[in-house]
Amino acid sequence: MSISQVTSMPTSDWVTRSLHSVWHPCTQMQHHETVPLIPVSHGKGVWLYDPDGKRYLDAISSWWVNLFGHANPRINAALKDQLDRLEHAMLAGFTHEPVIQLSERLSTLTGNALGHCFYASDGASAVEIALKMSFHAWRNAGETKKQEFICLKGSYHGETIGALAVTDVAIFRDAYGSLLRNAHVVMSPDARQAQAGETAEDVARRAADALETLLQERADNIAAVIVEPLVQCATGMAMHDPLYLKLLRQLCDRYSVHLIADEIAVGCGRTGTFFACEQANIWPDFLCLSKGISGGYLPLSLVMTREEIFQAFYSEDVTRAFLHSHSYTGNPLACRAALATLEIFEADTVLQTNRARAACLTQALQPLATHDKVRHFRPRGMIWAFDALIDDPHQLATFSRRFFAAALKQEILLRPIGNTVYLMPPYILSEDEIALLADRTIAVFEEIITP
Ligand SMILES: *Cc1c(COP(=O)(O)O)cnc(C)c1O
Repeated sequence: MSISQVTSMPTSDWVTRSLHSVWHPCTQMQHHETVPLIPVSHGKGVWLYDPDGKRYLDAISSWWVNLFGHANPRINAALKDQLDRLEHAMLAGFTHEPVIQLSERLSTLTGNALGHCFYASDGASAVEIALKMSFHAWRNAGETKKQEFICLKGSYHGETIGALAVTDVAIFRDAYGSLLRNAHVVMSPDARQAQAGETAEDVARRAADALETLLQERADNIAAVIVEPLVQCATGMAMHDPLYLKLLRQLCDRYSVHLIADEIAVGCGRTGTFFACEQANIWPDFLCLSKGISGGYLPLSLVMTREEIFQAFYSEDVTRAFLHSHSYTGNPLACRAALATLEIFEADTVLQTNRARAACLTQALQPLATHDKVRHFRPRGMIWAFDALIDDPHQLATFSRRFFAAALKQEILLRPIGNTVYLMPPYILSEDEIALLADRTIAVFEEIITP
């Protein structure tokens, strides 16, 4: 097969051939006997196109990764330039400009609180690194009993064996439960749990109290608490008050436990600030980034950490070093895409312009906010979520798939989680696209919610 033939497969064959040879993620493959598999030939801005020219507005940023649209001219240009310079070099014993610049720029964004960046390629690996690094830092400090981790109810931190152990989403976890090292699961500060007269802050306090009870008993054995700051995305966009993060930081300090902030989904401006932690005015001991950091172009993840953690490994002794590695650690192309992404944040004052964009979409979605079949309409930064009120168990069980299919017919890509519909669009929606997205989301909801 010549190189040109790779790109000139008859498009009518794509779906059949894919279902034969590609094992798709997070999918019961048999469902594709009835649910269509959608071939994508190209993308531009917020739109994805199939080979026949049918388009879909990518309202979930291609699994929460795309920030500035598909085929973004500035990221494309940076990558084309990087391709002719250096595509990859190992990062053990070698270094290169993109990885240095990226580490420095990210560190600056934390006011140099988190000045050391360790790289991998996917989010789950960043979580593995943070867990291992926390454990090893304690061990190097002589605290060998600190081997356990705490996560929140409904938490999602990835699906490799270590990350799955701190994940509390049944569908991902149940089948593999017996393979995992159990973590402590504590109350989530999810504000939807507010009882009559309670505020989101009250729920945050209750959740922090529950955590403190565990720490009082167990802190000597706990290495770290891992949290998705402000929004627990994969469990269904469960949002909490920033107060929880403040209290969490205090508890971690008081009981000598590390704080791992998994900002893989909520980082890079998704919640309104570059890092979600900024809204609570705290820094964690470890901060994980992935997804949006490369603009949604290339697999890249990293763990940022404090000077004290770095120093805990700094020694003549090789066994005290952090001996974790991935072949593509700090890949230059991925780092260059990330640098181009950070440049766009700066050049376009993205965090600022997103505020106007977000206000506009929140306004356009008001018919849903006040709909009698909607509960907990909750915008936060560039995330919008609401829960559909459905009594019939069969309607509830099929809601997500029916909504997805109906939205596709309206040229919108949306995949509800259970009865939670959420929008997580790229940061480039125009006014027209905002109106189109809101109108059609409302229309699809009306269609699906009325039996
Ligand atoms: C997606 C996600 C991960 C895992 O990232 P992958 O790249 O899919 O492995 C971890 N934590 C959070 C909060 C995520 O949203």
